[in-house]
Amino acid sequence: MIIVVKSGCPQEEIKLLCTELRRWNILPEVSRGENKVAIGLVGDTAEIDLQQVQNLSPFIEQVLRINKPFKRASLEFRYGEPSNIKVSTPSGNVTFGQNHPLVVIAGPCSVESEEMIVETALQVKAAGGHFLRGGAYKPRTSPYAFQGHGESALEWLATARSVSGLGIITEVMDASELSAIASVADILQVGARNMQNFSLLKKIGATNKPVLLKRGLSATIEEWLMSAEYILAAGNPNVILCERGIRTCDSKYTRNTLDISAIPVLRNLTHLPIVVDPSHATGKSELVSPMAKAAIAAGCDSLMVEVHPNPQKALSDGPQSLNFASFTEFMREISHLSQFFGRWEQHQPCITSKQLSINSEVSSFSLR
Ligand code: PEP
Ligand code: MN
Repeated sequence: MIIVVKSGCPQEEIKLLCTELRRWNILPEVSRGENKVAIGLVGDTAEIDLQQVQNLSPFIEQVLRINKPFKRASLEFRYGEPSNIKVSTPSGNVTFGQNHPLVVIAGPCSVESEEMIVETALQVKAAGGHFLRGGAYKPRTSPYAFQGHGESALEWLATARSVSGLGIITEVMDASELSAIASVADILQVGARNMQNFSLLKKIGATNKPVLLKRGLSATIEEWLMSAEYILAAGNPNVILCERGIRTCDSKYTRNTLDISAIPVLRNLTHLPIVVDPSHATGKSELVSPMAKAAIAAGCDSLMVEVHPNPQKALSDGPQSLNFASFTEFMREISHLSQFFGRWEQHQPCITSKQLSINSEVSSFSLR
């Protein structure tokens, strides 16, 4: 159930309302959007009559029931207002949200060495990216495949963060690594394979770090939103959804199928921001740019792409990784399309072909 408060309602009245609701054994959760204040009622509200709540104050505009199984994640919970998730990075705040410029997250699948992650960070920054991604702990299908450099990789990420000024996003696979990862990461990633690891979700929900929640390999949209609900219910409101492709009948020509329709579907269901990862969705570097453009056109708030100094030699996910020159070209292409949709930050570099050749020189120099 949700109470929408009239604009101009005094703060004291909201406090009184909350006190009264607590007396009914209901937990009130106040959420302040740009234009509205809404109070979500958490608890057993089935027996409560809407009119009974409406009568509590003349400042109540409307009382609504949320009939969806996901309550806090639902669009109704914020009375139709999108959430803006502000993340602080060494270069300033970056906001994920529907009324904000497109956010670009880029970096290798795995953090392979200090030199490669620092070099990649500088290239991502130069091309206009906001966050550096890279796994220290990797969920691999085979136990014999490279599992990530763990704690050393976290230290290298911290160096890359301070050298480049980019925010860091990296995956948490196990709760035992949570505090070490949270001390370096600006955003915690929950990977597709852990989307329904409910005990991990609860522990991440108990922190206040922003969370990127990837869609499970074959998860329905409702299952995905219920996983988001676990994090929200545990007290962390900073959840960002990431569509990364799902299993369908064809896996010969694409690794997964990018569910572009998930973007407008989610828009009607939830207030949470939406990221699209065209790298894991397709598994092929040549498909990353077209799918990213489709995602922008469908209204995503952010893109996450894999970038590697030398994809042929990558320890994981090389075939889907862009090299520095193709990432710079990718940024140029998406900047034009995002400008068209009014979703490009004004001062964000929109790279010229001259800068493109300078960037390729920088990369070949630092690769030695
Ligand atoms: C990743 O981002 O490197 C990753 C493992 O992604 P996913 O969980 O979507 O497979
Ligand atoms: Mn990967």
